[in-house]
Parts: sequence; structure tokens; C-alpha cells
Amino acid sequence: MCMNINVTRSSMPTYEEYCEEIKELWDSHWMTNMGVKHKQFETELLKYLEADNVKLYVNGHLALENILESMAFPRGSEVITTPFTFASTTHAIVRSGLVPVMCDINPVNYTIDADKIEELITDKTAAIMPVHVYGNLCDVERIKEIADKHDLKVIYDAAHAFAVTYKGISSAMFGDASMFSFHATKVFNSIEGGAVFFREMKLSTRLDELKNFGIHGPEIVSWVGGNAKMNEFAAAMGICNLRHLDNEIEKRKKVAERYHQNLDGINGIRLNVAQKDIKSNYAYYPVVFDGYKYTRNEIFEKLKMNGIVARKYFYPLTNSFECYKGDSFYGAEKTPVAKYVSDRVLTLPMYADLSMDDVDKICEIILK
Ligand SMILES: *Cc1c(COP(=O)(O)O)cnc(C)c1O
Repeated sequence: MCMNINVTRSSMPTYEEYCEEIKELWDSHWMTNMGVKHKQFETELLKYLEADNVKLYVNGHLALENILESMAFPRGSEVITTPFTFASTTHAIVRSGLVPVMCDINPVNYTIDADKIEELITDKTAAIMPVHVYGNLCDVERIKEIADKHDLKVIYDAAHAFAVTYKGISSAMFGDASMFSFHATKVFNSIEGGAVFFREMKLSTRLDELKNFGIHGPEIVSWVGGNAKMNEFAAAMGICNLRHLDNEIEKRKKVAERYHQNLDGINGIRLNVAQKDIKSNYAYYPVVFDGYKYTRNEIFEKLKMNGIVARKYFYPLTNSFECYKGDSFYGAEKTPVAKYVSDRVLTLPMYADLSMDDVDKICEIILK
């Protein structure tokens, strides 16, 4: 049996819908630099998420770097974060001249363990950068309390959490800023792309300038900025995909429920737990193999032999990366819970059009 199921499959509008959306670009010959599609996409995102301020980026990673830069922390300031994330989070902190301080995660929803944040705060701490993981949200209320008490900024890596809500409030509204990734592999994509939602209006001009070489006006350059602008074709893809997002998330929910029916209650298999008051986007389907008859790596190989690609996500932890050897935050032993989960977790194929039959077959292979 060879099925060839990938871990994800990018959402796309119909060819006709996309062509219709980009048609006017052939009239204007305006393909980038904050054109009509860029503006329209921003407006529609604000409406969809009921949010106040947004800036669009060429990708999520540069959005994260730009938001850190806009806050102008002194070089060497510490940012409390977790290693149970994609390379981007830790790299953004380090590339901005800041020092990541690794906090462990909680074993229930794999986000930062809010009880362990305060003991890591020093007089150099400037910010907390927690990561919403798999469509689960961090304990946003506790994190706000801690940040307010110690006068710290909170910047969420919300790459996994587009369209997730807590008590009906969008994940874009927590902390001082939240970064979303619109990469092709995410729940919602603009081919490549990203966005920053932020609270303080005073960051607005700075963010605009940082993504466009620091250019303030035709003859004034006020920042040593880079280039991180979203182009019109990406914005048009975002506009199209946003129209179908609710339907896609509904379909993902059905896939998650089918996995749950098949795998719930099996000895040694731990499934993601739905969070109280949180509406998920079902971005990923993580399964922790803990004392199961096969190890995580054995399941990974078994699936691969059958043409099914699962992903060891997140493995390795970012504090085990080769490039950080010798840094003070290096070493997975400092975050034992994250290490435990990272060694046992597998994310199974998850996308809107994954059929129920395929979910059943994937589960059969795992259970056999
Ligand atoms: C995808 C992702 C990013 C980076 O986003 P890009 O758009 O690919 O640059 C950052 N953090 C997390 C947790 C991600 O999953």
C-alpha cells in the first residue's frame, strides 16, 4: 500500500478566482510597495479579526525581527521564550542582538509554563516572547499579569494561531504585539507572508519604515531598515484564501474529530486536549507516544513506509541546535518538559481536504 499523503497541503482558491483578483494589476502595473491589494488585505484582516492595527510582511520571520527592532530594546536585553518552537522564534531574538532565556513548557498544551516565568526575570529582562503552539493558546491572562507587574513587553509568536479566539477575542489582540505567518504550510496563507498586530499606535510609522529600508520620505531615511514588504500577488492570494478560511477550519475540525475517535483511550497515546473558552483553528494534530507499544520514531518510519509523511514537530528543540552550541541558553536539559514532549511527539497529516478514509487508514497503521 502506498498512499502518498503529505503532512499538509496548501489551501488555494480556484484558478479563476485568483486570476480575477490579480486582473487589475495588469492595468496598473503596480506589483509591490503597498499597492491596492496590500491595502485591501490589511483592511479585510482587521475586519475579520476585529483588530485595530496591522502591518503586512513578506514573511512571518521578518515580521518578528521588525517588531523586536521597533521596540528598540538595549543590546543584550533578555527575552523569556521557549525552545518548543520553530527555528524562527529563537533566531529572531538572537539576530536582533537580544538574549533568549529559555522557559520550560507545560505538558498539557505545550505552551510556555506561566508558573516558571517569574523566576527567570532579571534586571536585564525586556520582554516575554511566548509561542502559541498547534492552535493552542498560551495562558494570556497570567502572562499579562506577570508582564504588567514587572513592566515587560509581550510579543506573541502567533504563527500557529491565526483565527483562534479566547472568550471570543481574537488571538491578535493579546500582548503588545502578535506575529502571524501566512506561509503556504499554515492554516491561512498568502503563499509566503506575515503580519504584525500591535497595540501602541506609536509603533506604526516605525514598522512601516523598518520594512522599507527605513525610508521616511523621498529624501529622509530615518532607520537602518531592511526590506520585508509583502507584494501585491501575495496580498491577492491572502484576500482570496480569507474568503474560504471559515469553511477550511470547519473541515479541519472534522479531521481532528475523526483522529480523536480513532485514537482516544489507547494506552500510551496522548492526544491534544481542547482548551476551555478557546476556539481552535486545528492547525496541527499532535500525538504524544508515551509508553505506547511503538516509539515515536518507529511510528514515523511505519507511516513513511506506507507513503505517509508525519512530522517530528518540534524536534529538535531550538536550544539543541548546532548553531547555539556554546551559548548560555544552549542545552535541552534546562527545559526537561519540552525535551520529554519533543522526543515523543509527532504531528499527523492535517489539512482541510484530508478524507475521512485517509484518516482511518493512517490510524490503522498506527494501531496495527
Ligand atoms: C512558520 C513559523 C514561523 C515563521 O514564519 P514564516 O512565515 O515561515 O517566516 C515562526 N514561528 C513559528 C512557530 C512558525 O510555525
